[in-house]
Amino acid sequence: MLGARRFRGPIDLHTHSSVSDGTETPSQLVRAAAAAGLGTVALTDHDSTAGWAEAGVAARTAGLTLIPGMEFSTRVGFSSVHLLAYLFDPSNAGIVAETARVRQARLVRAEQMVERIGVDYALTWEDVLAQTTPDATVGRPHIADALVARGFALTRSEAFAGILHWEAGYYQPHYAPDPLRAITLVRAAGGVPVIAHPATRGAVDVIPEAKLARLAEAGLFGLELEHRENRPEAKAHLYALAEKYGLFVIGSSDYHGEGKPNRLGENTTAPEVLERIIGQGTGSPPVYG
Ligand code: AMP
Ligand code: FE
Ligand code: FE
Ligand code: ZN
Repeated sequence: MLGARRFRGPIDLHTHSSVSDGTETPSQLVRAAAAAGLGTVALTDHDSTAGWAEAGVAARTAGLTLIPGMEFSTRVGFSSVHLLAYLFDPSNAGIVAETARVRQARLVRAEQMVERIGVDYALTWEDVLAQTTPDATVGRPHIADALVARGFALTRSEAFAGILHWEAGYYQPHYAPDPLRAITLVRAAGGVPVIAHPATRGAVDVIPEAKLARLAEAGLFGLELEHRENRPEAKAHLYALAEKYGLFVIGSSDYHGEGKPNRLGENTTAPEVLERIIGQGTGSPPVYG
């Protein structure tokens, strides 16, 4: 009898490719993960599963395990809350419809932001399109790249700290479902939902304890507490809540290639936790390379 297929560590469960706002193609990303010494990587592009197939082929070639995933945009009031989702069925009708709606809303919102920015800076929608790959999930990082290309910022981070900051006057939110609805959709598609970087500035106030309790009841699996953008005090508080509501903790890099300083494997997830994710994820299998 064949033994159970096994993943190897280190495990990084949050990365982006050019299918959303990462700077590397899915295959380049998987090769970078292998070169960084990772044994398992999850591809979690924003609101899209379009990179799964290419990443799967690359994982087989590179000899590492791929966990197919996505970072689902959700929203509470004016604040965006990101939900990592693993091993769901990408053809599930609920997921397909909701992610299409979010991607379309992101596109319209980006065009509106560029229109506003264009009043003060010589930036056009064509400049932004030149920074995206066909069908990519469009976000502020692509506007940032266009601003860099036009010389209005030196780096993505500088653009985010200035023109693209939510207080700069050009910011606009986009449609996204409530996290409760997204969690329900992910579970219905056989997936495993984890709130991404929940201890960033503002996020803790967005998800108070009573709300977190409801999300846990709706099927939330865990919290991404080991992430460079989580603030230490808020993180300590959320560790206590994770314990109280039986939520698992993951750690990851949120790698965006050259688009962000985050390095592959800078935070990792315990093998026992990934074991549980694989146990609960029934919509898609991992790719064991
Ligand atoms: P959006 O979802 O379009 O509002 O843009 C948010 C995305 O931009 C997230 O995926 C972040 O990872 C990315 N982002 C936020 N801040 C920065 C930064 N300083 N440099 C590069 N990317 C960033
Ligand atoms: Fe991103
Ligand atoms: Fe995020
Ligand atoms: Zn991310």
